[in-house]
Amino acid sequence: SDDRPEDVLRNADIAMYRAKELGKKRYEMFTPDMLTNAVTRLEVETDLARALEREEFCLFYQPIISLHDGSLWGFEALVRWQHPRRGLVNPDQFISIAEENGAIVAIGEWILREACRQLQLWRAAFANAHDLRMNVNVSAKQLTAPGFARTVESALSACGLNPDGVNVEITESVLMDDADHAQSILAQLRQMALHIHLDDFGTGYSSLAYLRDFPIDALKIDRSFVSNSNVSNSNAGLTSIEIVRAIIALAQSLSLAVTAEGIETDEQRVQLQALGCTHGQGYYFSRPVDASKASGLIAGYVNGAPVQQTR
Ligand code: C2E
Ligand code: MG
Ligand code: MG
Repeated sequence: SDDRPEDVLRNADIAMYRAKELGKKRYEMFTPDMLTNAVTRLEVETDLARALEREEFCLFYQPIISLHDGSLWGFEALVRWQHPRRGLVNPDQFISIAEENGAIVAIGEWILREACRQLQLWRAAFANAHDLRMNVNVSAKQLTAPGFARTVESALSACGLNPDGVNVEITESVLMDDADHAQSILAQLRQMALHIHLDDFGTGYSSLAYLRDFPIDALKIDRSFVSNSNVSNSNAGLTSIEIVRAIIALAQSLSLAVTAEGIETDEQRVQLQALGCTHGQGYYFSRPVDASKASGLIAGYVNGAPVQQTR
């Protein structure tokens, strides 16, 4: 019958792919609004092609905190584009375009080199930062492009960074698209002593088989389960406490670390800590900041003070 779980899932799949196809076709029927978008897109693509050589990218860093003692565990590197006319452009406005046209491979290599270089500088400059970590987002196309493992090796050796400092953040789509290939690359990275963190966990397929079949070290709970930025209530608790509890329990039973994204209130931090979440990240601790402000955060931590809240 149609009610068996596998049928329900398959029908949902089919519906999703149809919706995606429909979405693509709809894009061909131009309205003035879409024309503007298409023009913007074309401009972005053209500018993107020159942005690397013009050195328009920079990295921001958002602290990742150990929830058990409030110490600074590491940073997530988040790319920004200093566009000559548009100003500071966020990644959601250009990463997907860069993925589609392949520019992400070269941009991603720059991001990796810059993140490694900065981490090694901090490790050398601050007495208590020698085991500080850096999480780097890697998109599907970048991970499966030829020579990714060699690119990582060269980024590490260029600055003399120990591979255990770098955590590669991937999303489930990486594992879905090209499973065998992804698996062998992740195995190579693991062998080099890098760690793999599964980003935005809970929003994609969240197939438990991924956790069994791929060398994953940590889950990042998607921020939609943690905070609801539309609610400007400084006492707000977790948006979806039951889901968060279940993901943490799953991580614990598989001996995975778990980072909650998007912590915006002290109540959310307290609840996550009580549930056994190991790490946390979010505006409550700090927004993503430039390298010099991040240095200030490290200095504060090294002197024993808690990480400052910058809101
Ligand atoms: P992500 O990897 O899940 O990064 C977390 C995003 O959540 C960041 O947005 C961060 O600024 C935002 N965020 C952190 N804490 C909070 C909070 O408490 N509340 C709210 N409302 N938001 C918070 P950002 O920097 O705009 O990046 C968006 C996405 O773009 C990232 O999601 C990631 O998928 C992608 N991205 C960013 N940098 C890179 C990169 O270097 N390479 C690749 N391939 N993708 C990147
Ligand atoms: Mg991430
Ligand atoms: Mg995320």
